Amino acid sequence: MKTIIEPFRIKSVEPIRMTTAAERESLLREAHFNPFLLRASSVLIDLLTDSGASAMSSEQWAGIMRGDESYAGSESFHRLRAVLKDLTGFENILPTHQGRASERILFELVGGKGKVVPNNAHFDTTRANTEHSGARAVNLPIPEASDPANRHPFKGNMNTSALEALIKDVGRENIPLVMLTVTNNTCGGQPVSLENIRAVRAICDKHRLPLFLDACRFAENAWFIRAREPGQQGRPVREIAREMFSLCDGSTISSKKDGLVNIGGLLLIKDPVLFQRACNLLILTEGFVTYGGLAGRDLEAMAQGFIEVVDEDYLAYRVRCVEYLGERLLAAGVRIIEPPGGHAIYIDAAHFAPHIPKTQFPGQALVCGLYRTGGIRACEIGSLMAGPHHTPEHELVRLAIPRRVYTQSHMDYVAECCAEVFKARHALRGLRITEAPEVLRHFTARFAEV
Ligand SMILES: *Cc1c(COP(=O)(O)O)cnc(C)c1O
Repeated sequence: MKTIIEPFRIKSVEPIRMTTAAERESLLREAHFNPFLLRASSVLIDLLTDSGASAMSSEQWAGIMRGDESYAGSESFHRLRAVLKDLTGFENILPTHQGRASERILFELVGGKGKVVPNNAHFDTTRANTEHSGARAVNLPIPEASDPANRHPFKGNMNTSALEALIKDVGRENIPLVMLTVTNNTCGGQPVSLENIRAVRAICDKHRLPLFLDACRFAENAWFIRAREPGQQGRPVREIAREMFSLCDGSTISSKKDGLVNIGGLLLIKDPVLFQRACNLLILTEGFVTYGGLAGRDLEAMAQGFIEVVDEDYLAYRVRCVEYLGERLLAAGVRIIEPPGGHAIYIDAAHFAPHIPKTQFPGQALVCGLYRTGGIRACEIGSLMAGPHHTPEHELVRLAIPRRVYTQSHMDYVAECCAEVFKARHALRGLRITEAPEVLRHFTARFAEV
């Protein structure tokens, strides 16, 4: 088998800056050991997030020029709607400025006190918007999801017996909708099988409940279905994606992921009455229904992004890129969540730095180590992010891979730096917080080394 290559050539380049170890040491100290406080220009390889960090194609940039900036009835909106109708089968689509705006509108309409929303695992903004409406957000992952070494092919699945039990427990009248997040970001970017989506659909039908997809990474999920699910091998990804959408009544999407754009979101709703109410809320806070808080050029780039993301050469390269990094880390002895998901590698920081107690943030210590060693920016997902009132199951560091931005040699470099930090892991030092806000402290907390 030959190397799976980047299926594009590079037309425009953005230089990234090499820094010396001494420069990084002083920059890290100036940032109070929190890479969120670094200037992006001080970062060599930025793996903080895959959200909004994609490279656009020449066709998308051409779309930027073509964008129709009419307030109402923009041609760019109609192009986006046609692309999405073809891809998802949905007629009723609303553009929004990003995923959380779609979530806010949806849960303002269907949430509220006493309501319970089940999800395979809520993404943090989805949980926040559900709870902001007064509703309770319940995660129903499968048991395999909590074992990092378990190589279940669809570790993102929803636990269907737990869903049945929840419906029985709280009553169907208190559940406005069931949600499935594809891929399951909170559980490590793990996919959900078509079989599981169908099973959840069948339970929803039985109890007359709507099913919504949080479909930010629908194309990566469809690729995993094609690669791993019995009976799906060789089926066109577009067709699998179409079936995924055909099984749901609506969807919230952040186009900053599989939309391959830097900003944008979508809200799809089948029910015409609910859709009309969503239109009214959209106009109140986002903008008219044919632009939803975006420029016409953004809609144009988004339309093209949703065409390109289901290209199978692109998806083979995308998923292989993440898997390749995972293989190299495992070979170096670094423990990660297995198997690698679609958009990121999650390092088990408690295993990486066992000498650092949870109270001294082993994940953040590793994040600092990666920056010091290679100018790499990663994100802690552990005791720091969970906040002072929660104990997370795992201490993780996420290496999120932006789409179409880095090449294989960048990934080799990242793997080499991780291996180097791992070899010298006993030198990593714990951190203590010197200053932090009450909520979402990981963004702005300041630290000192213990
Ligand atoms: C990013 C993300 C969101 C929120 O989207 P934004 O565009 O960041 O507001 C919701 N759900 C999932 C699964 C996500 O990954």
